[in-house]
Amino acid sequence: MLKQYKLVTVTGARQVSPRTRRLTFGGPELADFTDVAPDQQVKLFFGRNGEPRPWVPQPTGDGDVMRWYRSFMAMPETSRPWMRAYSVREHRAEASEIDIDFLLHEDGGPATSWAAAAEPGDVVGLLGPSPSQLAEPGPYDWRLFAGDQSALPAIAASLAALPAGAKALAYIEVADEREVQELVGPADVDVRWVHGGLVDAVRDAEFPAGPVYAWLAGEASVVKALRRHLIGERGLPRDMIAFSGYWRVNATQEEIEM
Ligand SMILES: Cc1cc2nc3c(=O)[nH]c(=O)nc-3n(C[C@H](O)[C@H](O)[C@H](O)COP(=O)(O)OP(=O)(O)OC[C@H]3O[C@@H](n4cnc5c(N)ncnc54)[C@H](O)[C@@H]3O)c2cc1C
Repeated sequence: MLKQYKLVTVTGARQVSPRTRRLTFGGPELADFTDVAPDQQVKLFFGRNGEPRPWVPQPTGDGDVMRWYRSFMAMPETSRPWMRAYSVREHRAEASEIDIDFLLHEDGGPATSWAAAAEPGDVVGLLGPSPSQLAEPGPYDWRLFAGDQSALPAIAASLAALPAGAKALAYIEVADEREVQELVGPADVDVRWVHGGLVDAVRDAEFPAGPVYAWLAGEASVVKALRRHLIGERGLPRDMIAFSGYWRVNATQEEIEM
């Protein structure tokens, strides 16, 4: 895990679909980037007043995230950088590089505006990585993934990390056909692309037999409805569901608890 706050540099930028911009970050600052989970997240920091090199307090090194967060929140609001969570789409350790896929959503906030214009040489603040979800499920036969386009990078990385022979069913909601990506994973992974109505798609799904470990992420109310369906209608035990609201309609990430 990167124990220090670092400024990392964009080394590549490309539009992988009309709404997805993939930025590559590289350089010696990422040489000690150590993977912690397939669905790992990093916190990115953007200068509130357009500062090209945003500053935040250094973590103390004791791993106490809440203590660091309190010191971050103690910064005057007018100079505190914007903090946003993003998934690591791919980490290439040998090249000290990570890719992050930014969904350029319509209501774009500071992260989206920055990513839409970012070019090689631009700098962003980074802390992490940390796991996006902390569930430790019991034994299971197969995995269910369900999420919207904000969760696509984490689902893609998770599928790529599945061991050979693993069985998985993934429902991913994207705006339209042009947003569909080619995903890699073991042979027994079934990816269903959904254009509107993620909850209905999962509700109508025919599940494979056997215990399932479900991973849900995306807009908070959709994640809640998915979880409710899995528990209430499918009878899944609560501890077999990892879930996280990645964003919320009409709320910036500041307004959602860390
Ligand atoms: C653990 C974790 C991992 C994440 N990984 C990724 C990732 O890899 N790629 C990615 O693109 N996003 C990811 N997200 C979601 C991302 O952090 C949010 O979408 C974030 O709000 C974007 O910041 P912003 O500055 O653009 O918008 P904000 O300033 O936070 O919000 C501004 C407005 O935009 C709306 N909004 C925010 N996100 C979306 C969205 N996805 N779709 C439509 N409207 C939206 C809000 O409702 C608000 O009205 C992740 C979130 C978490 C918690």
